[in-house]
Formats: sequence, C-alpha cells, structure tokens
Amino acid sequence: MTAIIIDGKARATALRESVAAEVAGFVAAHGRAPGLTVVLVGDDPASAVYVRNKGRETLAAGMVSGEHRLPASVSEAEVLALVAALNADEAIDGILVQLPLPRHIDADRVLAAINPAKDVDGFHPVNAGRLATGLDALVPCTPTGCLLLIEEALGNLSGKEALVIGRSNIVGKPMAALLTARSATVTIAHSRTVDLAGHVARAEILVAAVGVPHLVKGEWIRPGACVIDVGMNRVATADGKSRLTGDVDYDGALARAGWITPVPGGVGPMTIACLLANTLKAARARLG
Ligand code: NAD
Repeated sequence: MTAIIIDGKARATALRESVAAEVAGFVAAHGRAPGLTVVLVGDDPASAVYVRNKGRETLAAGMVSGEHRLPASVSEAEVLALVAALNADEAIDGILVQLPLPRHIDADRVLAAINPAKDVDGFHPVNAGRLATGLDALVPCTPTGCLLLIEEALGNLSGKEALVIGRSNIVGKPMAALLTARSATVTIAHSRTVDLAGHVARAEILVAAVGVPHLVKGEWIRPGACVIDVGMNRVATADGKSRLTGDVDYDGALARAGWITPVPGGVGPMTIACLLANTLKAARARLG
C-alpha cells in the first residue's frame, strides 16, 4: 500500500478562499471587515515569520490586520494593559498573543486576560472548558485544521480508534476533545506513555504532536491508518543547511498508512486558514 498524500496546502487555500468570500458578505452586511490583531513580544525569528504570514493572510482574506510588536524587556503589566486595550477596542474581533512569551511573563495569565469572545487562538480557559463540555467555542486552530483533514479522508469518525501523541493545551488536548466529540475512541499518549509502539499499532487515526523528529516509526503504523503529522522539527542536513521534518518517519509510514500529511505542506498551512475562520466566527458572534 502507498498512502494517499494529504495536500494541506490545497485544502488550506480552499478554506482561505471560502473565508474570503464570507468576509465579503460580512462587509456588505455590516459595513466593516472583521479585525484580527496580533501581539508579538521579543524577537524570536520563527515567531516573527508566523506573525508576518498571519498578517499577510489576514489582509488577503479581506480582513483588517493589526500588529503590536513589543520588546522582550516589556513587563507583564504592560502586556496585560495592551490586552485590556485590545479587549475594549470595538473594531477588533480577534486577539492573538504569539507564543512563546519571554520567561518573565506568565503566558497563562496573559492568555486568561484576553476576552474569550476575541480569543481566536482558543487558548482561554473558558474556550477550553466549552470545548471539553461540548459547547460552541473558539477552538485552537491547529487541531481544528487536523480534524478537517481527517474528516475529509475518512468521513464519519464514529467508533474509530484514534491515538493523539502529545497532551499540550495547544494541540494534543483539544485534538483529543475534537475527536471525542466526533465519537472516535481516543487515547492520549505522552512522554510517560509505556509502549507507544503498541498504541500506534491500534490507531486508525494517528495524530503526532510531539516535537521529536521521526519518533513514530513507519513499521509501528497500522496498515491503512490516517496519519496526521503536526510536528515541525528543524533538523540539520548533510550540506550544512537545515530542513523541516515531522514526528513521523515519513518514508517508512508511506508504505503502510492509508493517508498521510507531509511536513511541510500538511498541517502547517491549515493553521492560519483556521485562524482566519475563527476570526470571522468571532466577528459574527460579537455582532450577534
Ligand atoms: P509541547 O512541547 O507543548 O508538547 C509536546 C507533547 O509531547 C507533550 O505533551 C509531551 O508529553 C509529549 N511527548 C514528549 N516526548 C514524548 C515521547 N517521547 N513520547 C510521547 N509523547 C511525548 O508541543 P506542542 O506545542 O504541542 O507542539 C508539538 C509539535 O507540533 C511541535 O513540533 C510543534 O512545533 C508542532 N506544532 C505545529 C503546528 C503547526 O501549525 N503545524 C502548530 C503547533 C505546534
């Protein structure tokens, strides 16, 4: 068997186009575009690239893009004051504080200060709780994108064996909640899991969100499984450069999986597309 390679780029383009079309309708109805504002603290180069891409895609979807860049030396109180000002700004529908924050700033406190109705990253405890209890919520973008890819491949997920590797609040936990809500039978594996290979062998749906290159071996994978590789690991190449690779041994997995996402070009592009969709959703909800 050779896996079908899931084209996350194409799927994300289609989603961005449909969001842009709906934004045009929103503008016609309400006389203004949804607004997304990103807060970037410090000079982490990867974060700067993400923020630039988010700004570009926000504008391309017809929305208003705002950006606040603060130096790494900024105090937590100053960040909280900025979040409060953005909460109070009627023209802003979505607020995103780019992680990671410098160590002297308590990220949990900052995320909890965002108005849950503008929390387009879905990291606020209110949104996490709403997702966990089956209420409508702003759901984290990466697992939302993963779910779209999985459902497109498999259709109905009811009763499927799913394994999520990783239990972060950003990916693993919300991914497990989304799959549970679709009636999959979900196992969460993490750094203390015994016999990861045994769990992988049972999974019809495998989502790897760890950050360890090629942790999941091709021969572990259940034949025909849908493999979603969230990992984005920069590894050195023989020519002294570097490249991105996932948490799954892609070449080994290709021969056993039914579907697989490449890295790059799989999950990554879906994240920003889902962020745009969340911003539109927040804008609609705020206008009732
Ligand atoms: P994290 O570090 O917060 O969490 C990693 C999880 O992996 C933890 O829950 C830990 O228990 C688990 N883990 C660590 N070692 C393990 C092992 N040996 N076996 C099983 N589980 C183990 O990371 P995160 O924020 O959830 O991100 C995970 C990966 O996904 C990273 O590579 C990150 O860059 C990537 N990511 C990609 C996107 C995207 O848009 N494509 C978005 C977010 C994160």
